[in-house]
Amino acid sequence: MIEFRSVTYGFDDHAVLEDCSLEIEDGEFVLLAGANGSGKTTLLRHCNGLLSPDSGEVLVDGVSVAENPVAARTATGMVFQHPRDQFVAATVASDVAFGPENLGLPHAEIDRRVEDSLAAVNLEGRGDERIDTLSGGEQSRVAIAGALAMEPTHLLLDEPFTGLDEPSREAVIERLESLSSDGTGVVLATHDLRDVSRLADRIVVMRGGEILEDGPSSRVLERLDGLDVRAPS
Ligand code: ADP
Repeated sequence: MIEFRSVTYGFDDHAVLEDCSLEIEDGEFVLLAGANGSGKTTLLRHCNGLLSPDSGEVLVDGVSVAENPVAARTATGMVFQHPRDQFVAATVASDVAFGPENLGLPHAEIDRRVEDSLAAVNLEGRGDERIDTLSGGEQSRVAIAGALAMEPTHLLLDEPFTGLDEPSREAVIERLESLSSDGTGVVLATHDLRDVSRLADRIVVMRGGEILEDGPSSRVLERLDGLDVRAPS
């Protein structure tokens, strides 16, 4: 479980998160919605200790992220907005293996995780391909596989559809749907709810660094007018 307890955070003098409290259960599919600049990325970056609250606390599985960022990073796999910025190796398999290698896992376990993670994003057998020859959608799926190889409880994705064409977007959504039905928790930050709201158990809407709405998808969708979030078509 991920818990935000009255988290406040600012850059310089500018408040970016104001008194945010939120609980995300294991296995839940949560959409974190809100216009650009509403604080979604900043909130996600608190889950693994990339940012620390000015006041309040973030806990993952009951443990403070500030006290144990390594445990938080193991439990929450992060996929950044521009996957290209996140790759560390030239080929698909070596990139996906990077995280498990850093955990010091045995070779057989690393190989199993790479194979399972690539299968989960429909890229089985493509481990030797160079990442720079793949399409945008395939690169996004490699980034997701890299996060999955850490076997996280929650997969956190920050605007994963940026720059993707429609077929690629659909392929990523399909993968998220199947990961979610296999029990991985998904937290998806997006300003564009097309096609994804139907997958979510819950929608959390942010505006100006505050949590404006938090509830079952059907109820929140009815109230989206005026929140500057693109409603599903
Ligand atoms: P979102 O993900 O919803 O687009 P962000 O969390 O990226 O929102 O940004 C929230 C606010 O924080 C914005 O006003 C943005 O300008 C500000 N912000 C984000 N990153 C920085 C930074 N590195 N330095 C200063 N301000 C920042």
